[in-house]
Amino acid sequence: MLPAFSATSHTETAKRLARKVSAFVETEIIPNEPLLAQQGERSLRLQSDLAYKARQAGLYGLFYPLSHGGKIASLEDYLLVAEQEGRTEFSQAIFASHTALDAHMLLKFGNEAIHEQFLQPMVSGDALPCYGMTEPGHSGSIPSLITTTAYLSNGYWYIDGRKWFISNADRATFMTVLARTAGKETALNQALSMIIVPAGTPGFKIERQLTMMGHSYGQGEVSLTAVQVPEHYLIGTCGGGLDLMNKRLGLGRLLRAMNWIGLAQRCMDLMGARIHSIRGKFSRLAEKQLVRQHIFNTYQAIAGARELIRIAARSVDAQNPDEIAINAAKMAASHALCIASDCAMQLYGAEGLSDLTPLYGINRIARTSRILDGNDESLISSVGRRLINHYQHHAVYSFD
Ligand SMILES: Cc1cc2nc3c(=O)[nH]c(=O)nc-3n(C[C@H](O)[C@H](O)[C@H](O)COP(=O)(O)OP(=O)(O)OC[C@H]3O[C@@H](n4cnc5c(N)ncnc54)[C@H](O)[C@@H]3O)c2cc1C
Repeated sequence: MLPAFSATSHTETAKRLARKVSAFVETEIIPNEPLLAQQGERSLRLQSDLAYKARQAGLYGLFYPLSHGGKIASLEDYLLVAEQEGRTEFSQAIFASHTALDAHMLLKFGNEAIHEQFLQPMVSGDALPCYGMTEPGHSGSIPSLITTTAYLSNGYWYIDGRKWFISNADRATFMTVLARTAGKETALNQALSMIIVPAGTPGFKIERQLTMMGHSYGQGEVSLTAVQVPEHYLIGTCGGGLDLMNKRLGLGRLLRAMNWIGLAQRCMDLMGARIHSIRGKFSRLAEKQLVRQHIFNTYQAIAGARELIRIAARSVDAQNPDEIAINAAKMAASHALCIASDCAMQLYGAEGLSDLTPLYGINRIARTSRILDGNDESLISSVGRRLINHYQHHAVYSFD
């Protein structure tokens, strides 16, 4: 049975789209998961066939900007849809939710030429972005360590450097590169810039593909050698890259958190199915206190994370991003997914470790979620610092 989506604060459009996405995931994607999990040409073809079907059903790019085909205006509303999309680990490319972040960044901070050359083809499904921030040999959590450089000469940017763990590097048609455009003597908030590099540009080279826990999610290592691109491929302002990076991370963290919450809910539903299966009944799983603890822990983690995401989403919708809530929401969603996938895997015994259930793949995603887009420690540190700073000037922290 499909969820009821009874929350009154959401628009009718969001509730209707969430129901349609839920049905599409249930009937079109989940039955195809075993084939989608097999990497290679066949699974890529199936993914693109499903993306075509999603587009025909009016479910493609739902969180693109409204001016570019999107259908949902607020992040709080998108939570309803994103958690349904997120119920399968294969949904992102099918619903184009993986490019929504770039669409918003390019629309807001790109010039007209960028809109025409990169944004428009991307929302039409003819271009795929990737984002080049992390570099080999340096902590990805510390932007001051970025060594990729770009300098401007006679109307062109010249870029040199190396990036790794870049999602979709092998299939992307362009990369947004975070590069240093001023020396160490310049304050970091004026020293980094974002510049677009089309994948075919001479000097842009995929050095190798990297696997994550034995599985390829399309992360690659890319070298940039004397890459030359026109001056107007700069996004935002020269030197304003750190601010753009933080804006990108904030929205990106929330979008991912919403998907993870959906995946965590799927794990909880799988636990319910196992407990009430014939096998579960024989073992009287429903009566075991420790099994109740598993489902309680999962529920508590999901419900808490969902509420934090809602608070964070509202702050972004109100153009007043609450960094504490955003970072805490990302961590809470990742934590909920880790708990949910681990408890579900445990309840399924050996089957949970095999490819007879989707849990092995989900568990792998759960593990990457603690590092991707800000590792746990950095986020805890950032939230803790902000809270402590708050108490320097206030006696009370208001949760309103
Ligand atoms: C699935 C996946 C997809 C990715 N896609 C992209 C992409 O498309 N583009 C891109 O640019 N990058 C991408 N990355 C890279 C990602 O952004 C980095 O992994 C992340 O920023 C962390 O950087 P790092 O791996 O260098 O780890 P580091 O920054 O070196 O951190 C490693 C560990 O050091 C410890 N640590 C770090 N900072 C602190 C702190 N402040 N306090 C305490 N301990 C700390 C933590 O234990 C942390 O896990 C991806 C990563 C994954 C896993």
